[in-house]
Amino acid sequence: MFKVDKIRADFPILKRMVNNKPLVYFDNGATSQTPQVVIDAIVDYYSNYNANIHRGVHSLSQEATDKYEEARIKIQQHFNAKHSYEIIFTTGTTHGINMVASGFSELLEEGDEIIVSALEHHSNIVPWQMLCEKTGAVLKVIPMDEDGSLRMDNYHELLNGKTKLVFCNHVSNALGTINPIEEIIHAAHKFGAYVLIDGAQATPHIKPDVQELDVDFYVASAHKICGPTGVGLLYGKEELLKMLPPYQGGGEMIETVTFEKTTYAGLPHKFEAGTPNICGGIAFGVALDYMNSVGFDNIQQQEDYLLAYGTQKLLEIDGLRIYGTTHKTSVISFNIEGIHPYDIGVILDKLGVAVRTGHHCAQPIMEFYKIPGTVRASFAFYNTREEIDVMIEAIKKAKMMLS
Ligand code: PMP
Repeated sequence: MFKVDKIRADFPILKRMVNNKPLVYFDNGATSQTPQVVIDAIVDYYSNYNANIHRGVHSLSQEATDKYEEARIKIQQHFNAKHSYEIIFTTGTTHGINMVASGFSELLEEGDEIIVSALEHHSNIVPWQMLCEKTGAVLKVIPMDEDGSLRMDNYHELLNGKTKLVFCNHVSNALGTINPIEEIIHAAHKFGAYVLIDGAQATPHIKPDVQELDVDFYVASAHKICGPTGVGLLYGKEELLKMLPPYQGGGEMIETVTFEKTTYAGLPHKFEAGTPNICGGIAFGVALDYMNSVGFDNIQQQEDYLLAYGTQKLLEIDGLRIYGTTHKTSVISFNIEGIHPYDIGVILDKLGVAVRTGHHCAQPIMEFYKIPGTVRASFAFYNTREEIDVMIEAIKKAKMMLS
């Protein structure tokens, strides 16, 4: 049975005080907190078997290689990829997107079309704009509705024989909207277009099955799923990863090198030039084990409960508006009439409550609502109803001080 007190004991940081108040951490959308097992795995690596991987014959190197490759298999199993070599270690979501964008710069032609959604994080917009500048491809945007959902009728109208790529997040970081990626993928495939799904915000809440989704590329970051920063994954279907050119040249990604010609290593090494974040990769595997031991059903149940409770309590505050009211994860983006979101964030921090304020790297969404930004409270499975009560009281105080 899911017991939140027991879960909270796994996270040492949740015991700390901030500004002399117990920490209420509601910035999980930016990064999640780290359970002791993941911290232990990091300490264990540097204390006991820190070594470079794949090339050493000595025992430490073999041990580190085995653990790193075991982590790749854990990630493969978690996402249900067909082969472990379809999992490429990256530094995070941004890196994975840039790898694919850079690869397609050699494969697109002038006049080809790329579709992105209006709900994207800047990291799933800018690389495609750069790709369009390089290739002469044209960027089209699926518009959004007032409730924070995508206008799927417009999406179907945008698709045509010139569409080569479609990019969409699984879950919006600014609003929490869960996008209909099954429909997006299926419709794109009918026109022969490839689809990349940015899973940065979905993976903390949902366990995606890349084979069932039939998605071409799926990217995510470990630090949003109880893992460390600086590591993530790019999943790609084998034939597509084989088709794309390597992202970076260097050690690890070659088969043979002469000054006349270099041949590249097979998957996954072709995309993994240089010494990777070995410890991070191993800790990523441990983080997924931890999330699975909590169970995604339990995670969703607790977060849905917090979302419903938080929404109800926030809406009792006069002048408070929530942005994004459609089917979503445990993210509440809001503003209070006449008050700048930044000012609310500063006062909440003084009262121990960590929320995000600003445009959340999603300026087009802010432009849509004609606002400078929002206050974003994003809940994780280790948060509680009592913490929401603390936030509500803090917001009421902030409102009194700032009105
Ligand atoms: N996409 C989305 C939807 C995100 O929320 C984030 C992180 N805020 C990113 C991409 C970028 O992730 P990272 O900074 O870990 O590369």
